[in-house]
Amino acid sequence: KVRVRFAPSPTGPLHIGGVRTALFNYLFAKKNGGDFVLRIEDTDQTRYVKGAEEYISESLNWLNIPYDEGPGKEKGYGPYRQSERKELYKEYADTLIANGNAYYAFDTSEELDAHRKDHEENGKTFIYNWHNRNKLKNSLSLSETEVKQRLESGADYVIRFKTPENETLQLQDIIRGDILIDTSVLDDKVLFKSDGMPTYHLANIVDDHLMEITHVIRGEEWLPSLPLHVLLYRAFEWKAPEFAHLPLIMKPVGKGKLSKRDGDKMGFPVFPLKWKTAEGDIYSGYREDGYLPEAVVNMLALLGWNPGTEQEIFDLADLTQQFDLDRVNKSGARFDPEKAKWFQHHYLQQQSDVDIAAKFSLFLKDKGIEPGPHLVPIVSSLKERATFVEDLWEQGSFFFERPNSYDEKASKKAFKEDTPQLLQEVIRLMSSTDEFTSPVLSDKIKGWITAQDIGFGKVMMPLRLSLVGEMKGPDVFEIAALLGKEETVKRLENAIA
Ligand code: GLU
Repeated sequence: KVRVRFAPSPTGPLHIGGVRTALFNYLFAKKNGGDFVLRIEDTDQTRYVKGAEEYISESLNWLNIPYDEGPGKEKGYGPYRQSERKELYKEYADTLIANGNAYYAFDTSEELDAHRKDHEENGKTFIYNWHNRNKLKNSLSLSETEVKQRLESGADYVIRFKTPENETLQLQDIIRGDILIDTSVLDDKVLFKSDGMPTYHLANIVDDHLMEITHVIRGEEWLPSLPLHVLLYRAFEWKAPEFAHLPLIMKPVGKGKLSKRDGDKMGFPVFPLKWKTAEGDIYSGYREDGYLPEAVVNMLALLGWNPGTEQEIFDLADLTQQFDLDRVNKSGARFDPEKAKWFQHHYLQQQSDVDIAAKFSLFLKDKGIEPGPHLVPIVSSLKERATFVEDLWEQGSFFFERPNSYDEKASKKAFKEDTPQLLQEVIRLMSSTDEFTSPVLSDKIKGWITAQDIGFGKVMMPLRLSLVGEMKGPDVFEIAALLGKEETVKRLENAIA
């Protein structure tokens, strides 16, 4: 059975790249009838940020891509927080020591710094591996008895992986194909520390194995760890999962990875939800900015994946059917905030007028405005031009507030000497209309204009300005009908007063 995991470290808010990783894991699991596991990788307590774990699950829930298994959803592979699995890892580090794939090292950070400096002075980089480790006085050159003594004396130690010498590894990645790597460029990475905590590498491999993960789908930034991970599976004599490293998400313009600063600079969110830092800085999120989760999911799905057709609109059901790791690109995926808005516009249009009206009504009440009885038809007259619910206000605040001024430039064009007289006639015609609907009003006013040969602009422009205050909005008779007779007449009278 396919089992995938999303394994974030709770070091801050999950950014949009992390959400993309979660989404691709979710889609791959659903496509293959598998399980989507959430594992919290919190072994580095110094980087732990309060609230980050809640933020992660809230984000996944908001996007409708909840995990099947994880904290609070125990399915027999838990606990799902590495801090709660702490006791488990030492045994695995010991196994590697016993079978010769790892060793104790007692170098202090000062000593390591000195080695690094030494190498740099000779124009080399210090790699902690078989080139050096036998020469270093605090690791493999120590006898077994010496190691034992130091451990017993309570000396600080680390357990390092013993990278094989002079070997060319052939690694497989579903997205990248075969990768060849010479082990001489690899460090003997630290697996375990004397504070009793495993490092990311050890905990990650042990947990993926124990949780029976079949596919590791993660960001490209983890590709450099792949050789070590594959070697660790070999050292444990475990079957390794398959790996897929997702392409980087690039800035909207220019070079490099998308960063949270790009969002600040260009005014778009890089987080799914709002986040407040310990320092009190607030980052807005897609949810708070009014995006629908469907739009965010659709946008993220196409960041690195493509269906191989022209289709751009995908709901979760479509994605689940069509998603495939074979169609994920190697090259970086450019983040496009405008495209996010385009999807948002599309998905807002898919919502029923009643649903949109319900949200708009909350927005209005927040502003202290009574939504009134015509909110649903008002919404349907405005929504085509709206990307966000908020835009309805921008487009149609005049439905709720009488204009108290008129656009200057338009007034000059629209209000002429004979305007009061013409509007007076409009008032008369409208007042005598019993069925105050847009088609009736339209027939009546237009009929009169034509019969009197007045010229449409001379009436329609001041009429719109009187009702709206600017030259915008939907059909003017629709506006009048929605405002109702009394209010329409009042606004016309105000305009010529
Ligand atoms: N804890 C790692 C992270 O924060 C997990 C990487 C992986 O998926 O192996 O992304």
